[in-house]
Amino acid sequence: MKSIVQTAPRSIELSERDRPVPDDDEVLVRVHYAGLCGSDAHAYTYEEGYEWIPIPRIMGHEYSGEVAAVGDDVTEFAVGDPVVEEPIHDCGTCFQCKNGQENVCQNFEITGMHNDGAYAEYTTVEPDDLHRIPADLPLRQASITEPLSIATRAVFTQSTVTPGDTVLVEGPGPIGVLVAAVADSMGANVVVSGLGKDGAYRLPLVEELGIDTLNVEVDDIDSYVDARTDGIGFDVVFDTTGHKSGVEMAVEHVRKGGQVVVVGLPGDTSDLFMTPIVRGEIEVTTSYGSTWRNFEQALRVMANDAIDVDTIVDTSYSVDDPTAAFEAFLNSETCKPVFSFVDV
Ligand SMILES: [Zn+2]
Ligand SMILES: [Zn+2]
Repeated sequence: MKSIVQTAPRSIELSERDRPVPDDDEVLVRVHYAGLCGSDAHAYTYEEGYEWIPIPRIMGHEYSGEVAAVGDDVTEFAVGDPVVEEPIHDCGTCFQCKNGQENVCQNFEITGMHNDGAYAEYTTVEPDDLHRIPADLPLRQASITEPLSIATRAVFTQSTVTPGDTVLVEGPGPIGVLVAAVADSMGANVVVSGLGKDGAYRLPLVEELGIDTLNVEVDDIDSYVDARTDGIGFDVVFDTTGHKSGVEMAVEHVRKGGQVVVVGLPGDTSDLFMTPIVRGEIEVTTSYGSTWRNFEQALRVMANDAIDVDTIVDTSYSVDDPTAAFEAFLNSETCKPVFSFVDV
């Protein structure tokens, strides 16, 4: 089968691998669409925190597909079922797993990192890690269920957003765009901020979704925020930038008594000035990963056509040249590239 394999730091190639054979307790999935996300890009560049991943490795963890075979002991799924995998596998036995907090499991393993992933025509998975895709939801759309589940967690589970709230989403990467789309679908008044380089593809994509944008390197952010929020500041700010300046900007532009939800990994924020956060009784919270429930929410949001998935998914990159998709992603020339394994 054709597979996208990482062979060295910043080096990937399409190569031929043997089709995996499912164990008695596993499902064989014929992959249709597989997306590229920020963590795949980090793994590709093999940056700090990702050098433990053994290579060569078949990459990929966000995908949709169809059950192609089931092991003898599998009763929950049958050949032909449309499915997505929950690719962050919790252990089920640690304190957090037993405490209903499996998104912060102490021992999780990620498909495509701890083991071979889904940038391939076939992959094997245990049925407990699968969700059935609603019948009328196309597999191309369902390929983004996992990143969308990160967004449904951030907005529905972790934030206080209600319809009519003014919301700032910092960072127009895939998670930022999906967080904005979910908040917009609830009737919040959303604006997405980005940098100069985001003006080429990502901010126009957000505009295409009908959501306003702000380029912090071009626009005067203070006067924009004052005009948009009547000088009050945003009710809720989501930081998806993965940079400490995102947290600083969030606490500066959230209103007193408002909420900041940190979704990206900002690194060292040890010089963050806390006094105005306390004086404004600003709630700073976090959102990490997602749960079974957040996956089901993501599938329902898409099945109800609540967000414009077709505009977000970019299937213009071919599996024949995976490097092009990764380099374009790193250059912000695309937002959510998705490989099609249907016609390879
Ligand atoms: Zn991902
Ligand atoms: Zn656990």
